[in-house]
Amino acid sequence: MSQTFTVGWLYPDLMNIYGDRGNILTLLKRAEWHGYEPRLVELQRGAAQMMDDVDVFFFGGGQDREQALVYDDLIEIKQEPLEAAVAKGSVVLAVCGGYQLLGHYYQTAEGERFPGIGLIDVRTEAGKKRFIGDVVVDASIEGVDPSTLVGFENHSGRTFLGVGARPLGRVRLGAGNNGTDGTEGCVQGGVVGTYLHGSLLPKNPHLADYLIRRALSRRGMGELVPLDDSTELAAHARILERAQQRAGER
Ligand code: GLN
Repeated sequence: MSQTFTVGWLYPDLMNIYGDRGNILTLLKRAEWHGYEPRLVELQRGAAQMMDDVDVFFFGGGQDREQALVYDDLIEIKQEPLEAAVAKGSVVLAVCGGYQLLGHYYQTAEGERFPGIGLIDVRTEAGKKRFIGDVVVDASIEGVDPSTLVGFENHSGRTFLGVGARPLGRVRLGAGNNGTDGTEGCVQGGVVGTYLHGSLLPKNPHLADYLIRRALSRRGMGELVPLDDSTELAAHARILERAQQRAGER
């Protein structure tokens, strides 16, 4: 009987925009292709069951309204079991709104400040301008090939990293974390935060397997037989080409 691989989806009803659910489908399907029994645990508000069993948590994007709706539950119910799971080696992929709430705080453009759970050493303050468009990142995480990540961004938040977090990569195209320091996303232990929607993982299978491998390593596994990613990488290359064409046209 194959081993189970569990994906925990935080707030699927509220924190799931711009196709972010494609990340869930990719994690589950790739786990299956790698020989695991995929299992999805939907972690709505109030529910905190089975968080200890989760290999990879996904926390998707959401507008300020949805972030406010999940905020109390995140602090009062999910924070403790999430921190405990991450301390034991579970992995987190957080995109945009989810990424922002895992930091020290998220402050809206109106000045409303939501203290985050401080799982990652980042802080976010929204500005008046929205960053919208294709993003190409030169990733700085070990063992991913190709070394680029592609996606698109749509956010007003400007995220700045503290010393405890390192960038997921540097933007070749787009704004990334804040449009000023050239960084995109963050990596801190097993937590990967990013502004890349798209959804991200279907066109970046190398990042998907990085997350799966890292999660499995806490169970003494983690060696993955390479899959035939020719279709996914063709999509990656097309997005890269299109983004660079658009950049050249500006
Ligand atoms: N509301 C946040 C912002 O505008 C996050 C948006 C998102 O998740 N795409 O920055």
